[in-house]
Amino acid sequence: MDKTILITGASRGIGAACALLAARRGYTVCVNYRDNDAAANAVVQVIEAAGGHAFAVAADVAEEDDVARLFAAVDARCGRLDALVNNAGILARQSRVEHMDAARINRILATNVTGSFLCAREAVRRMSTKHGGNGGAIVNLSSRAAVLGSANEYVDYAASKAAVDALTIGLSKEVAQEGIRVNGVRPGLIDTDMHASGGEPGRIQRLQSSVPMARGGTAEEVAAAVLWLLSDEASYATGTFIDVSGGR
Ligand code: NAP
Repeated sequence: MDKTILITGASRGIGAACALLAARRGYTVCVNYRDNDAAANAVVQVIEAAGGHAFAVAADVAEEDDVARLFAAVDARCGRLDALVNNAGILARQSRVEHMDAARINRILATNVTGSFLCAREAVRRMSTKHGGNGGAIVNLSSRAAVLGSANEYVDYAASKAAVDALTIGLSKEVAQEGIRVNGVRPGLIDTDMHASGGEPGRIQRLQSSVPMARGGTAEEVAAAVLWLLSDEASYATGTFIDVSGGR
């Protein structure tokens, strides 16, 4: 039976690129998304047209009941879970901290931090040898923002990604003797729709001259790092990070 991977936020951008590459590597892929049915179904169709296996499940990772339903759908469909990519993430319009209200900050934290925790919890319950599982691997999508801070843009988002890094380090140690590796990828400026949701679709063009490699990156370049960390080639890597940021 194929290995099974669950990728949150896989209808677009980096998550979709991870889904396509994972399918090529032989995984059956659960394509999670929140709103965009058409985009998620399109990812499934591309995978199936190439002879792979995938299915889409709508669920908001910030909602505990949705997360339970998402993992139950994987159980029912596949009966196993080998890999989780905590990729679903959001940011809000560019703003200085002095203009942020609690509703905005909590919305970012609920998806990026609580969502990653809830999905990691469900994955550990299934993968841990302590719970009768066969082990597995988790990759959390952080950001170079966790280190750089995103001043004048979205410090709340950067803080949420720093929390994701702490989750990666702490959880990796908790489950290191239970067959589960937990690692992070910190992308830099990647060409996806996310920048438009921050209010600046052309953000990469504005900032690319400040990147040592003088360009933005692609979702496929990030997916390659994610799939390597999930693979057996990374069998001694846990609690660590790959920055995919052109040197930024
Ligand atoms: P994106 O193009 O905006 O896509 C976001 C994806 O997440 C969509 O599939 C969306 O589904 C899904 N999603 C959003 N909220 C969700 C929720 N609550 N529950 C389930 N799914 C949800 O984003 P991206 O640029 O590919 O970013 C992917 C990850 O990489 C994020 O964690 C982001 O922070 C990180 N990252 C991105 C960059 C970059 O430059 N793009 C840089 C560093 C880190 P729907 O469309 O159905 O809502």
